[in-house]
Amino acid sequence: MYLREKIFIFCFLWFYFQGTAQGKLVQYKSEYFIILVIDGPRYTETYGDTACTYIPNLCHVLRPEGTFFSDFLNQGQTYTIPGHTALTTGCYQRISNVGTSLPKRPSLFQYYLQQRSKPSSDAQIIASKGKLSVLSNTKDKKWKDQYQPYSFCGPNGNGLGYGSDAATMEKIRSVLGSEAPPHLMLINLLGVDVAGHLNQWNKYLENIQLTDQYALEIWNLIQNNPATKNKTTLFITNDHGRHSHGHKSGFINHGDGCEGCRHISLLALGPDIPKNQVIPTKAEMIDIPYTIAQMMHLDFPTGKGRFLNELFEVKR
Ligand SMILES: [Zn+2]
Ligand SMILES: [Zn+2]
Repeated sequence: MYLREKIFIFCFLWFYFQGTAQGKLVQYKSEYFIILVIDGPRYTETYGDTACTYIPNLCHVLRPEGTFFSDFLNQGQTYTIPGHTALTTGCYQRISNVGTSLPKRPSLFQYYLQQRSKPSSDAQIIASKGKLSVLSNTKDKKWKDQYQPYSFCGPNGNGLGYGSDAATMEKIRSVLGSEAPPHLMLINLLGVDVAGHLNQWNKYLENIQLTDQYALEIWNLIQNNPATKNKTTLFITNDHGRHSHGHKSGFINHGDGCEGCRHISLLALGPDIPKNQVIPTKAEMIDIPYTIAQMMHLDFPTGKGRFLNELFEVKR
């Protein structure tokens, strides 16, 4: 064999394996991707409680069906809008938490709609908190007001006010039960966070139990729809935790870099994800959109996360 041919084969194999390591050349079974964000539970009341008192469905029904990251972090500002912005744009940034400014970078949703030439309805943001409608747009001049996902945030879907999770779930049922559900979706449920801020411990725990039921229901809705059954990856995560017990106001608030605020969780389920796997490696929220972009074979040049290889490798 000539040297030139040897070099060519070497280069080909090198690029191939590089691509495979990044997940780019792998053909995934998943065609639909959903990020479910349970707003603001603290790890100590969810998976950190080994008995899983308040999240029996997530722990004992869903976790064995997927891969769980036990050291999953919000490494940016631990507030609602910054947390969700990290999940949609793949970047941490300082951003108003009252909804008065747009994310600096375009979101994965916008890249998807642009690169696949899909209508707005094929990428959706459905949130109990109205202010999360900022996720559907960006300040970036090249992208502003373009390729915007459909957004239904707040009680009337117009970006104002806070709605109940029960009403948001009604909307979710109709979207996930439809014949043509969106290929990319983010859902926000607010009950846990709101009860925490009200300093109502029992209501806070009740809402953790309620979102635990909603998470299972969402998985069942996906698996009961022939369009999405065994073709959907569901990422169940949080935007932030809450202050650790004994630190500042404890569960009532959040927003700094304490363990309670940063330590959140990720459970991923889907046809490409190994079952009953617990990953102790550190991972963080910006890795979610980056990983989805790779699984969808999208260019996501402004996304700063890493591909979650551990999600796909069965640990022995
Ligand atoms: Zn909050
Ligand atoms: Zn804190």
